[in-house]
Formats: sequence, C-alpha cells, structure tokens
Amino acid sequence: MGTQLIAAGLAPGDCGMLWCVEKPDAVEAVHRRYRDAGCDLITTNSFGGCTTNLERHSLTGHADELNRAAAQAARRAVGDNAWVLADIGPFGGFLEPLGEMTAAELFKLFVQQAAALKAGGADAALIETMTDPGEAAVAVKAAKQAADWPVIATYAFDRGDGTNYRTMMGTTIEVAMKEAIAAGADVVGANCGTAMNLEDYARLAEQMVRAAGKTPVIIQPNAGAPQNVGGKDIYPATPAEMAALVPTLLNAGVRIIGGCCGTSPDHLRAMGETLRKQS
Ligand SMILES: [Zn+2]
Repeated sequence: MGTQLIAAGLAPGDCGMLWCVEKPDAVEAVHRRYRDAGCDLITTNSFGGCTTNLERHSLTGHADELNRAAAQAARRAVGDNAWVLADIGPFGGFLEPLGEMTAAELFKLFVQQAAALKAGGADAALIETMTDPGEAAVAVKAAKQAADWPVIATYAFDRGDGTNYRTMMGTTIEVAMKEAIAAGADVVGANCGTAMNLEDYARLAEQMVRAAGKTPVIIQPNAGAPQNVGGKDIYPATPAEMAALVPTLLNAGVRIIGGCCGTSPDHLRAMGETLRKQS
C-alpha cells in the first residue's frame, strides 16, 4: 500500500492513511488493482492507524474515523469478492521498561483501532511488521477482545549474520511464533524484512513452519532486499522471480502467501498464477 500510494503522488513522510478520507478513490483503486490481480485477501490502508502514530501527523482524536474509513474503502473496492484484512502495524515506540508505554495502555489503543476496523467491515485482523513479541502479544489479545474474528500475526525478520534470522529486537523465530500463538493468534508468520533476499524468505518459511507446529503459517516477502538508488529504495525482484519462489514456500508448508514492500499487482498476479497451477 505504501509503495502504491507514493506512486500515486503521496509525499514520503506524509500520512497515507489520511487518504482514506481525503482521497478514498485513490485508495480504492489500489485495492481494486490487487483484487483484479487475483488476490483473495486485501489489506486495509491502516498500518499506522494506532493513535500514537496518528499523533505524529497531528491527527490526535481521529483514530476511530480513519480506521473505520480504511476498512470501508477496502470493502467498497472489493465487495464480497475478497477478504478484507484489518491492518495493524507497530505503535512506533517501545514497551516498558525500554520505553514508557505500558502494556495496559497499549492494549486499549489496539482495541480501539481493531474495533474501528471491524466496524468499517473488515473480516479478520492482520497484525504486521512486529519486532517485539511482547507488543505482538498485546496486539493479538486486543484484536481478539475487539471482535470475534480470525487474527493473523506476522513479524519482520532480519538476516543478521548467516541464516540466524531474528527480529530487530533480537527475537528468534521460535520465541516469536510461540508468543503470538500463546496470545491467541490463529495464523502466524512473517512480512517485510531487513536485508532479506528471496532465498532468505525460503529458509525463513521452513523454520517458521517448524516453529509454528499446528498453527497455519503466512509469509508476505518484500520484492527482495532494497537497493538504494539515488536516495530511493528500489526493490529488485521481478514478478517472475517472486512467482518462482511460490512452489518453494508451498513445499515448506506455508498456507497463505502474499507480498510486502515493492510487490506490485503484477508480482501478486504472477505469484497467484503459479500458486493455482500448483494446487
Ligand atoms: Zn514491507
């Protein structure tokens, strides 16, 4: 969504979520392009919809309105032809004792966001780009408190040295999966990533499936590791390269496949075509 809104004219650093009310047609057009590419699951434009993030854009007090509008835009765009996933990203700080946010306060903020997304018509919650299993657990419990719906929780892993994948907070795959499942997540996995190329996502998938046990695993890789070209992040993997990764992910036991940064509708279309040939 971020990549697509910037392509549509959003200035980097501006609040893309504001477009849910100011330019809903542009947001709906993005959703429709992914639906037309064959996606069964559409993610709302609400990644930064926790009040703490909105405050940074001087949007204090608008969390209910913006999150509801985000879900409504996705629902209007795809009707009943796709699932609408309520996107919930990190709150942008650290929990106590590293930071000042308490788990109880954060729980309230995530309940508020999830409830507004549910009120706007979302079908399931997608908690994304988590690096702290403590925050992921709070978000999962809050999403479960807000509605009776499936809750997906995914982490951003970093390649670090070799294939010893950890989140930015140093959390291992085993701990990350275990904490999200213990909090009540119905599906667990990974999205985004740092310095991860496509082979890394394949290895990560295998390790996550092993760690998740009976809980289904989702993976939404970036289009490769970004390369900085003239101050801009360019994601190098082509649709064909992303599609070639799909059989490997399926063989590893992954149950839901999508894309994060740099994955255009063309990437998802190619991946979907390969997936449907396999299954
Ligand atoms: Zn990403």
